[in-house]
Amino acid sequence: MGEKKKKVVKTIKIDVDKCNGCRACEVACSAFHASPKYSSNNPARSRIRLIRDPLTDVYLPVYAGEEAKAECMGRGKYVIEGKEYQECDFCRSACPSRDIFKEPDSGLPLKCDMCEDNTPGEPPLCVQWCLAEALIYEEREEEVDEAADEIKAADVQIGLAAMIDKYGFQKVMDTFSRMSVSKQG
Ligand code: SF4
Ligand code: SF4
Repeated sequence: MGEKKKKVVKTIKIDVDKCNGCRACEVACSAFHASPKYSSNNPARSRIRLIRDPLTDVYLPVYAGEEAKAECMGRGKYVIEGKEYQECDFCRSACPSRDIFKEPDSGLPLKCDMCEDNTPGEPPLCVQWCLAEALIYEEREEEVDEAADEIKAADVQIGLAAMIDKYGFQKVMDTFSRMSVSKQG
């Protein structure tokens, strides 16, 4: 058994009933991650997107998660408290069948990073700007194996190699350089 160490796990709970569709979360996220920081906002670059249908009163904030390389077969429908949702509405992946969670210039997948370079102790930007309090930030401590962390580092290397394979070295490097300018800004 490897050594155990404490790790802070950050989560955001979504209270769908409180979301009023204002899209402030999209604006805040895209502005925080703009390069330079706060220089622009564009919901297409946001790592949280609002699935929205005012006619049926559907407002569903969804965070970007892992990329899915292939379309899935998920075409089911859910009825929750009288509102109808598509299965894809709940999906957190950038996938080939839709445009959300893809960086508009490069097409690279976007993923929520929980605003990792935000001021320590402050909640993520989308939570701060959701005045309806539909987004609730929570932290908890978990014990993790140090060996598992080493495996994750290996995963990053594999993921990087796969991205270069798919998008080409120059495109990936250009995106990283934009991201590093954003971090310095
Ligand atoms: S800021 Fe809050 S209320 Fe507005 S769209 Fe986002 S989750 Fe919904
Ligand atoms: S936690 Fe940060 S990165 Fe994630 S969606 Fe909210 S503002 Fe964007």
